[in-house]
Parts: sequence; structure tokens; C-alpha cells
Amino acid sequence: MTTTAINLADYIREVPDFPKPGIKFKDVTPLLADGDAFAAATSQLACFVPSGLHAVVGIESRGFIFGAALAQQLGLGFIPVRKAGKLPGKVHAIEYELEYGVDALEIHRDALTAGHRVVIVDDLLATGGTAASTVRLVRALGAEVACCVFVIELDALQGRKQLSDVPVYSAIHYAD
Ligand code: AMP
Repeated sequence: MTTTAINLADYIREVPDFPKPGIKFKDVTPLLADGDAFAAATSQLACFVPSGLHAVVGIESRGFIFGAALAQQLGLGFIPVRKAGKLPGKVHAIEYELEYGVDALEIHRDALTAGHRVVIVDDLLATGGTAASTVRLVRALGAEVACCVFVIELDALQGRKQLSDVPVYSAIHYAD
């Protein structure tokens, strides 16, 4: 099968009430398990990305999978943004609010510097809190965010409102 014939949404499994009641979890593992679909998703993300970038920044954890594949396709390096306490070097950290409580993301301080332009990648854009926090982390190091790309966007949650000063591109849109 050629990648142009693939409908990526066919490879996303919706799991109701996971990880908690009321959440319709979008499971990307069927897409990852299919070589053609995974390649098609990576190529679609690559189409969104302008040239001249320094690196791909991937958000833990599924953003690592798509981000690393995208970095390979574009010939760029990969920079992980991780949950608190996972990166071994000196980090810059940001806390952000969840529905209940707060979470934190971290980036190595020496990962980026002024003059660097990056693309931020995650599997899914929901409320936008995770991606917006990652934009702030990148900017705190002096680097610039060229765009944010997602495999899936949940349009009803209006996450791109939190990313209003960054171009946002998603391969698959769900209305709810
Ligand atoms: P948010 O910060 O609300 O935009 O949430 C985005 C992050 O949460 C991403 O890293 C997603 O992997 C995860 N996420 C949020 N909602 C879902 C969902 N319905 N299905 C799968 N992952 C989700």
C-alpha cells in the first residue's frame, strides 16, 4: 500500500472512559503498529514543518515516538521535554495546572539557546496546557518556536487558543 492511500483516522482506536470516566482516549498504538500508517503520519507531520529548523522538541511520552521519527525524517536532532525529575542534567522547569492539581515539565538548560528555531511535537492537542507550557520552556532558553504539530487535535477543547501566537497544525481533527 502506498502512504497516500492511507486514512490516518482509521488507525486511531477510541477507548471510552480511559483513564477515567468521561474521557474518550485516542489510542495511537494501532497506527504505530502499522508500518505504512506510522510512515504516513510522520510524512504528514513533516509536510507541516518549515525548513531551516535546528531541532524537534518532543513531549513525553507519545511525543517522543512521533518526534523522534519526525526528527529522523527531517535530518534534525531531537530534544525531549520530560515530566519532573527524569532528566539528569540541569533543567529549566515549568508547572502547569491540570483539572485537579498541577504537573510539571522540564527541559535540559543546555538543549537550546538563542538563535535556535524548533518544532514542538505531541501525539494529541486537547486543552493545550501541555503544549503551551512546552512553548514557554523553549522560549525561556531563548529559542524560537516555529510551529507546533500534532497527530490528533480535539477541536472542541480549543487547545489552539492557548497557542495563539504559534502556528498549529494537526493531521487528524476530531469534533469532540
Ligand atoms: P492537553 O494539555 O489538555 O492539551 O493534553 C495533551 C496531552 O494529554 C497529550 O500529551 C496527550 O497525549 C494527552 N491527552 C489528553 N487528552 C487525551 C485523549 N483524549 N486521548 C489521548 N491522549 C490525551
